[in-house]
Amino acid sequence: MDARQWMALSERYLMPTYRRYPLVLVRGEGTRVWDVEGREYLDFGAGIAVCNLGHCHPRVVEAIKEQADRLLHVSNLYHIVPQIELARLLVEHTFADRVFFCNSGAEANEGAIKLARIYARRFMGGERYEIITMRGSFHGRTMVTLAATGQERVRKGFEPLPPGFPHVPYGDLESLERAITPRTCGVMLEVVQGEGGVVVPPGEYLLGVEGLCRERGLLLILDEVQTGLGRLGTFLGHQAFGINPHIVTLAKGLGGGVAIGALLATEEVARAFQPGTHASTFGGNPLACAAGRAVVEEMTREGFLEGVARKGEYFLSALKELACRKAMVKEARGMGLMLALELEEGAAPVIAGLMERGFLAIPSGDRVVRFLPPLTVTREEIDLLLSALDEMLE
Ligand SMILES: *Cc1c(COP(=O)(O)O)cnc(C)c1O
Repeated sequence: MDARQWMALSERYLMPTYRRYPLVLVRGEGTRVWDVEGREYLDFGAGIAVCNLGHCHPRVVEAIKEQADRLLHVSNLYHIVPQIELARLLVEHTFADRVFFCNSGAEANEGAIKLARIYARRFMGGERYEIITMRGSFHGRTMVTLAATGQERVRKGFEPLPPGFPHVPYGDLESLERAITPRTCGVMLEVVQGEGGVVVPPGEYLLGVEGLCRERGLLLILDEVQTGLGRLGTFLGHQAFGINPHIVTLAKGLGGGVAIGALLATEEVARAFQPGTHASTFGGNPLACAAGRAVVEEMTREGFLEGVARKGEYFLSALKELACRKAMVKEARGMGLMLALELEEGAAPVIAGLMERGFLAIPSGDRVVRFLPPLTVTREEIDLLLSALDEMLE
């Protein structure tokens, strides 16, 4: 069947939740993907920051195949070897003492919110359940994570949403401080806002938030679903800012393409969960954790993350130089390999033009073109994208 036929069936059988590009992708390797007609694209979206090691990384594929032959699922009624090993790796490379596994970013954030509330109830005293979150944030599509999300366009129509999530402007420490009440138990934010338009906070902001949480006895919860797993040039994004959270959520890049989410916490906070307080049937299953273990092992190899940071700096400075020369580009921004161009007009024609030239990029809001290439992207591939942009933005 050709692409048109597949697209007709897609529209016939699937719920109309997505505005999809007219592309049927069937194969991937590294930064490259191919459509059903054999046309090649350089993927600067990486499945929305999921394929951080590139498409079908050989170590990840091998780990999945090996695990598939051995054991797929047993449930958390039993101890699971790949789950234990992945948890140990995550603890060794981060602030965390303990890990809980689930299946997606929204589910990890649900878990973080439940952990914060049960911790507050058991150990903070008073009636503290509010978690302050940020305008422009994105935390997922379940009812509670929608309530936490600071974007009207994704919340609209689903009210009433669960209460307990006041929103304050991102990057504004004073507003955050003013929003703290006797009911506040924590603050939840992204270290760089992803869906909100690749917004890097002002230099001292995250340190300020950490200090405020410490001073006022609040939990610092970081949604690293997009910024984690090497995206900012450090294993977790907050490590680049030198801050210490209590809870961090991961998903997207953790399974190299396989669905998995994780909730990381300090010993102090994690003890609020007891047998029976939280669970997931599929969470931490052998297959997803075997993939995750391969991803973390690859990513923490000597020199890998430094390479990401270097490529990110190279890419960003080239985008900034482009922004200076092109009237239709308002700003280039980002960190590591989470980069964006904010345009004076809509991003859709630029994304379509790139696609015609064989490059995939993704929007973030109406006017932002976002680049989230595999962290294994080469300088040559970055240069190819840059010259296509240069030519297009004439
Ligand atoms: C993608 C994303 C989520 C939601 O993850 P899902 O796996 O789609 O549920 C949550 N938070 C952030 C920061 C994200 O980028």
